[in-house]
Amino acid sequence: LKPHQKELFGQPIGLYVLFLTEMWERFSYYGMRALLVLYMTTSTLGDDARGAGLGWTSQEALALYGWYTMLVYVMSIPGGMIADKLIGQKKAVLWGAIILCLGHGVLVLTDIWAFYTGLGLVILGVGLLKPNISTMVGGLYKEGDIRRDKGFSIFYIGINLGSFLATMLVGVVVAQWGWHAGFGLAGVVMLIGLVNYVLGQKYLVKVGNLEPASDNTNDVSYGQLYSKLFNSPKQLIVALILLFVSFYGWYVMGWAYGLLFLFLTLITSLLMMIYKDLNSQVYKDRFLVLLLSFIMVIIFWGAFEQAGGLMNLYTDTKTDRNFFGLFEIPTVMFQSLNAGFIILFATGVANLWAKRKLKGREASSIFKMATGIIIMGFGFLFMVFAAMQFEQSGSSSMIWLVLAYFFHTIGELCLSPVALSFITKLAPVKYASLMMGVYFAASGLGNKVAGIIGESASEFGEYAVFTGILVFTVIVGGLFILILKPLKRLTHGAEDNEREMH
Ligand code: GLN
Repeated sequence: LKPHQKELFGQPIGLYVLFLTEMWERFSYYGMRALLVLYMTTSTLGDDARGAGLGWTSQEALALYGWYTMLVYVMSIPGGMIADKLIGQKKAVLWGAIILCLGHGVLVLTDIWAFYTGLGLVILGVGLLKPNISTMVGGLYKEGDIRRDKGFSIFYIGINLGSFLATMLVGVVVAQWGWHAGFGLAGVVMLIGLVNYVLGQKYLVKVGNLEPASDNTNDVSYGQLYSKLFNSPKQLIVALILLFVSFYGWYVMGWAYGLLFLFLTLITSLLMMIYKDLNSQVYKDRFLVLLLSFIMVIIFWGAFEQAGGLMNLYTDTKTDRNFFGLFEIPTVMFQSLNAGFIILFATGVANLWAKRKLKGREASSIFKMATGIIIMGFGFLFMVFAAMQFEQSGSSSMIWLVLAYFFHTIGELCLSPVALSFITKLAPVKYASLMMGVYFAASGLGNKVAGIIGESASEFGEYAVFTGILVFTVIVGGLFILILKPLKRLTHGAEDNEREMH
């Protein structure tokens, strides 16, 4: 057996190379992210051992944070395009990792130019690395290999191991040696990820290479696709309407939103043209069902990402965090619950679905994702209870938070790794990275939506917001289950004959 054919615990060894690379990358990402708002809002005089911050207001800091966390994922689209058309996923991940090392490295410096440059580089680096490493995981498996879903669940544990370690360690380092040591730690960790990726190349010989044109796609450039827009009046009209909306958005909401809408217009027109350009109805239908499933993705993350915002504040100000009168549990620790639950339950959830599938019962990806939305939405029931208790007694029990995060996590496990796997099953090989990029961009938009919903709590109150999310998500999940049959028909049996192949 050649190295890339070897297995460990029933999975190709390449999976573990990607697992570790992504684990270190997520460590650096979540570690830095955890510091960001705190660093921006700390006074320029430096209040304690952590040193001087930027002295921004919390509103300024949250605004930048919102744009940053969204851009990081939206840049996955160009990241995916570069991989598909120019250098392949494997090299894109390599360049992404190198740029990330530079970005985190620059953040060690204290100047303001270094701050913006560092963030910019991290956005570019994640955009190149994140979608493409996920697509590479899918590339480890042949079509119909039943291990694929399980592989993605294992990969997902790597992601969360990274985030768990980061949220545990970074705070300690910063308290001891200051902000820039925290940023530096993210850089060192990313360097380990890079080295690990380079050393693991022999297990990745067959994946992530630039794909030659195949029978299901035409080998045209993005520029050619755009130019075709002018030959198809229907598409052109849609594009013009979107363009108009962008400029209207610019006018009403300011240039930043305007640019975002403009970007989304470009992407939507591109997707329309790719759809038109695909050679077979099977690939057209699969493309469509993927795009429809991304609606679930936006809604899911829009609700789920209350975790870092509204629920975080709720934990801080309205929850009784007293541990049996012994000590007070710090707010940030609640942020580790999600990653911790993932590490504990990821394989369990994957096995449950696999068993269900083997028994011949409904376990398609769309079904899992819809179930995931409902389970996650159901978690908000406990936040509704919490808000009720707060209104009655002036503080609420932390058990509600633990239960809410538990349901959120189980929902995430039904949706997020499943969606990654689903994309690698359905997207035409030539556009696999682009579609992965669009998926992450959808989740980035979800993050932004989450921020907007969270802000609305100051107007409507938590009780109303949590109830609204609960009702809305359960209804959306239910609707997708209702139209499951036609959606599945559009996949043309992509998941019907999965079997053991090794
Ligand atoms: N927590 C996951 C990750 O970091 C989900 C990210 C996403 O889809 N936005 O990979």
